[in-house]
Amino acid sequence: MIQGIGASAGIAIGKSFVLPSWEWELPEQRVDVADFAREFERVYEGIRTSKHEIELMKDELRDVVGSEETHIFDAHIAILDDPVFMNEIQGIIQRQYKAAEVAVKEAIDHFVTMFDLLDDDYMKERALDIKDVGNRLLKHLLGAPEITLPSDTLPFILIAKELSPSQLAHINPQNVLGIVTLVGSATSHSAIMARALGIPLVVGVEAKLEEPIQTGQTIIIDGSDGSLYLDPGQHLIARYADLQKVQTEALHQLHSIAGHRPVTPDGKMLELAANISSYKELEVALSSGAHGVGLFRTEFLYMDRNRFPREEEQFEVYRSVAERLEGEPLIIRTLDIGGDKQLDYFNLAEEDNPFLGYRAIRISLDHKELFKTQLRAILRASRFGQVKLMYPLISSVEEVRAANAILAEAKLELEQEGLEFDPEMKVGIMIEVPAAVMIADLLAQEVDFFSIGTNDLVQFTLAVDRMNEEISHLYEPLHPAILRMLTLTVDAAKRNGIKIGVCGELAGDLNALPIWLALDVDELSMSSHSILQVKERLLCTKQEDSRALLPKLLECRTSSDIYNLLRQFADSVPTDGKATAQ
Ligand code: PEP
Ligand code: MG
Repeated sequence: MIQGIGASAGIAIGKSFVLPSWEWELPEQRVDVADFAREFERVYEGIRTSKHEIELMKDELRDVVGSEETHIFDAHIAILDDPVFMNEIQGIIQRQYKAAEVAVKEAIDHFVTMFDLLDDDYMKERALDIKDVGNRLLKHLLGAPEITLPSDTLPFILIAKELSPSQLAHINPQNVLGIVTLVGSATSHSAIMARALGIPLVVGVEAKLEEPIQTGQTIIIDGSDGSLYLDPGQHLIARYADLQKVQTEALHQLHSIAGHRPVTPDGKMLELAANISSYKELEVALSSGAHGVGLFRTEFLYMDRNRFPREEEQFEVYRSVAERLEGEPLIIRTLDIGGDKQLDYFNLAEEDNPFLGYRAIRISLDHKELFKTQLRAILRASRFGQVKLMYPLISSVEEVRAANAILAEAKLELEQEGLEFDPEMKVGIMIEVPAAVMIADLLAQEVDFFSIGTNDLVQFTLAVDRMNEEISHLYEPLHPAILRMLTLTVDAAKRNGIKIGVCGELAGDLNALPIWLALDVDELSMSSHSILQVKERLLCTKQEDSRALLPKLLECRTSSDIYNLLRQFADSVPTDGKATAQ
């Protein structure tokens, strides 16, 4: 058995598919004059193959998304057909005696830089197209294997060095039984997405593997405890298949409480909402009985394409989600890129400490037009449901005021243009930076609600990078410091009469439930996967008992003392089928 980190619960048994990773290795040798014709022909051949491939992709996609969205491929073909592009490549071969692939790479770099420098969004988009199409051409010239998921061995367990959230966004959960990444952590955004999609995930196995996993090996993974078995015997397979069946049945059973009101036996109502990052995830959320969406991570809307989404495109998505929720609350968080969420086309500089760097509200305030486009789209969607707006990574009152000033401008513009919105739309902030906790009383006077982002709050409070598997044992959400942070934040919200929710992963942790009940928070927003389990526990847990537990928790000196007390408490909660019988 290989011990990794369990990052998304569930068992997967199947054949592996190892996602190849490769980097461009360009030939260094010069070519002779006699080789020019051959090098030109190689470029032509690469262009022919690339065009054929693009046509195929276009046809496939047209069936799925309609012809409107496939025009991007026409632009790619036009670049390959453009004589200016070919002239540049030939010029580099002839003048500098460089091989075809080097010439293509240099020509791409040249055009990309040229277009990037222009102060025109349309031209900048062209730079991305050139980069994209150029990479395709390079791939053919270098004979690099296409990275596509296999269709013959479907479904499979995907093995990758690491997976970015945008790669994961493209995965069809129907085809992927489970995922193993060599590096990574349970609190990365990829892990959060895997949980939302219900795909078992084990991360951080690199150091434990004696030899690389090969495509086609049979494997078992258990995403709850992080175990991984390579080439297991029949016995083990049978044991895990049984376990898997039991888990599936338990989940099925849980669905019977999806329609129950989320109320404790002594009458405390705790809204259980879902964290989503796309419309696709909304259906899963609704079938899990989510009471609205407590966190819509909008950055995936930006990651899913090769340019910034326009106001109209964003509006359509926000409106669809709001309408589908039929009046249930929808908290839309403004763009939170940076950290482990990058946009290829935004060219964010490499940083030593990306989570502490240029990200989230800092980028929005620095790129006012980008921010305003999003605010206008959210405002316009606000009249189609109970939409609320939330700013991420707030650390000062100034930031809230600056963001609200841009919001006011956006409202004024819409009014002048005669576009409707809800003038009373509620505005809140994430509390995920220790500074925000310490000034929560001041911040509470500026906004309508708080939502505690425990993922970042834990990493910042404990100074533990949430992506670093070396120190993942130190990432301890039940640390006494966190408990105090939570208490301070909720107190400030209560004293100022504003709503308080929690949307970090701790919200979906069964052990933490008595903490939220004792503190009397209004809403928990979590991965859809956790909602039913939390509801089941909620239906049997008294707020009164949780309140009695809180002083004892606050007296604890260590995380493990807190954990043990919570475990003891959980064991004392009657789980005699009361919840499902209601
Ligand atoms: C958080 O930090 O807890 C949070 C919910 O935001 P994200 O995970 O997207 O950073
Ligand atoms: Mg966060």
